[in-house]
Amino acid sequence: MTNDLATRAKKLTRQYFGRAISLYAPLYISNYCDNHCLYCGFSRRHDISRKKLSAQEIEKECQTLAKTGLQNILILTGESRLQSPVSYIKEAVLVAGKYFPNISLEIYPLETKEYCELFLAGADGVTIYQETYDREVYKQLHPAGKKRDYDYRYQAPEKIAQAGMRHLSLGILLGLADWREDLKALFEHLRYLEKKYPGVEYSLSFPRLQKVAGDTNDYQPISDQVMLSIIATTRLMFPRVGINLSTRESAQFRDQILEFGVTKLSAGSSTRVGGYNDNEGTGQFTINDERSLVEVKEMLTKKGYDPVITDWRQIGNE
Ligand code: SF4
Repeated sequence: MTNDLATRAKKLTRQYFGRAISLYAPLYISNYCDNHCLYCGFSRRHDISRKKLSAQEIEKECQTLAKTGLQNILILTGESRLQSPVSYIKEAVLVAGKYFPNISLEIYPLETKEYCELFLAGADGVTIYQETYDREVYKQLHPAGKKRDYDYRYQAPEKIAQAGMRHLSLGILLGLADWREDLKALFEHLRYLEKKYPGVEYSLSFPRLQKVAGDTNDYQPISDQVMLSIIATTRLMFPRVGINLSTRESAQFRDQILEFGVTKLSAGSSTRVGGYNDNEGTGQFTINDERSLVEVKEMLTKKGYDPVITDWRQIGNE
C-alpha cells in the first residue's frame, strides 16, 4: 500500500466517522446448515455436533452477553430453513429485544415479506455475503443446497432494503477467488444498491478464509499488506460506508489496521452455539483476538478512539 493511499484513507475515515468505533458480538443460536460450502466447518458434509438453542437458552445467552455491557448483537443461524424457520428467528429477535437495542441477523436469504416480519419484530440490520462474485468459482464451492443459486443470493440484499431494514452489510470471503475481481464486483453491487436504496446504512466486511480440516481446495493467500490495501481502497471508494473487522484477525493486526478505515469491531466473541455459557461444540471459525469487551474498549480509549456501544434505540423502547 502506498503512503498516499494510507494517508488519504486515514483522513477520510476521520472526516466521516471521527474517532468512533462501534462494538458488537455475534450470537450463534444454531449451527444446522443445508448448504455444502466446501470452505466452511458448518457445512452439512461435516460430522459435527449440531445444536439449536431453545428460547430459554437464547435468553440465557442474551443475559450473559448483556452483562458484559454489549448492546449490539449479530444473531447467526446456519442456513437451514427447516431447522431455523422464520418463526424461530423471530422468536430469537423478540427475546434478544429485551436485552439489546441493536439486533442484526446473519441468516439464509429470505423473501421481502419475511425480512419485513423480522424488522417489525425488532431486527434492524442484516448481513449477507455473496462470498465470491466469480460465478465459476462460486459454482465449484457450493455444490449443494439452496446456496448453489448465485442469482437468488445476489438478489437478497435488495429484498432486505425493500423490507425497510436500517442497516445492510455485504462482504466477500477473501481467498476464494481473485480478490481484485471480487472487490470490483462487490463495489459494483454496493453502488447499485446505494443508488436504488439511498436510505439504507451500508457496511462491508472482508473476512479472510480460514481453511477447515479436510478441505483440499487451493485458495489464494491474502497477506496483511493486501488486507490493508483492501480496507484503505474501500475507504477511498466509499468514504461514508462502514467497515467491519471480526475476531478472525489477531489483536495486534486489528489494532494496527483500525486507522485505515475500520468503523466496527466485534469483541468478547464466541462462534459456538451457546458459547457464552458453555465451552462445548465447534466454532464456525477460530477466534484470534480473545480480548473481552472491556479490554477492547481500553485499547480504543488508549488509542484516542471513542468506543460506541449503541448508536440506535427504537422509539418506545425506553
Ligand atoms: S458458509 Fe454459511 S451457508 Fe455455507 S456451510 Fe457455512 S454456515 Fe452454511
